[in-house]
Amino acid sequence: MDCITISDLEVFAYHGVLKEENTLGQKFLISAELFMDIWEAAREDDISKSINYAEVCKEIDGYLRANTFKLIETIADRLARHLLRRYKPLREVNIKVKKPWAPIMMTLDTVSVSAKRSWHNVYLSLGSNLGNKEDNINKAIQLLNDQEDCRVICKSSLKVTKPVGPVEQDDFLNGALYMQTILSPMELLRVIASIESQLKRERVIHWGPRTIDLDILLYDDEIIQSSELTIPHIEMANREFVLEPMVEIAPWLRHPIFGKTMKELLEEIC
Ligand code: ATP
Ligand code: CA
Ligand code: CA
Repeated sequence: MDCITISDLEVFAYHGVLKEENTLGQKFLISAELFMDIWEAAREDDISKSINYAEVCKEIDGYLRANTFKLIETIADRLARHLLRRYKPLREVNIKVKKPWAPIMMTLDTVSVSAKRSWHNVYLSLGSNLGNKEDNINKAIQLLNDQEDCRVICKSSLKVTKPVGPVEQDDFLNGALYMQTILSPMELLRVIASIESQLKRERVIHWGPRTIDLDILLYDDEIIQSSELTIPHIEMANREFVLEPMVEIAPWLRHPIFGKTMKELLEEIC
């Protein structure tokens, strides 16, 4: 990917763990690698198709003066997310925060922290079989889109499906959506859990009736296996009610473990 680089922009601000740092202030040096596609801007020689680095420098200066953080870790993380939200063409940002006057009573050149943040491509499955099912799903999509770190790009149509598993319960309404997010997989899992609880999801019996169920199907090409999170969703390749909406929105998308497209996976189980 193409990259615009800003090196060691000087900003005087009041971040730090010590009280003195918050009152006296000090110099910070900010470097930013801004990853984006500059093809169109270069072809048309038009700054409006790119990101104006003078504006970005002002934005960084303003952000660091308007907010006070204890850690340079926090500055790097928050500033990277802020720039990704603020400038639409940005795909990825690498921020380095240097503190040349770190008050440690010893001589050093600088101490610094770097954070790389980017927009990720995520697919979610949506399901409801309790209350007003369509309303529940639409509310969940709205709540997701209201998050400043999430952009819902497209959604499938909703289909009525028969429940699977041992519990006798009402039919489901199922769908899938494609979104972009700055959130990490674990942050996204927490956001999903919070939306489920806002929509009164109760876990009385496993695989029982629910107002809303949001599962992370795919997060870029990542393969994650932990006690709380499995990505790709462990059952997605066995479930028609997941693959059918996925085929509607991304038939060409390849499962990162099985190496097959959504269309091929659906054909295998139908
Ligand atoms: P299933 O996962 O078989 O569709 P379910 O959706 O009914 O069943 P839940 O009760 O909603 O199961 O979730 C149980 C736990 O699954 C969650 O607390 C979460 O930690 C974990 N989990 C693991 N991987 C994922 C994922 N990819 N998306 C959502 N939750 C996940
Ligand atoms: Ca589920
Ligand atoms: Ca779930």
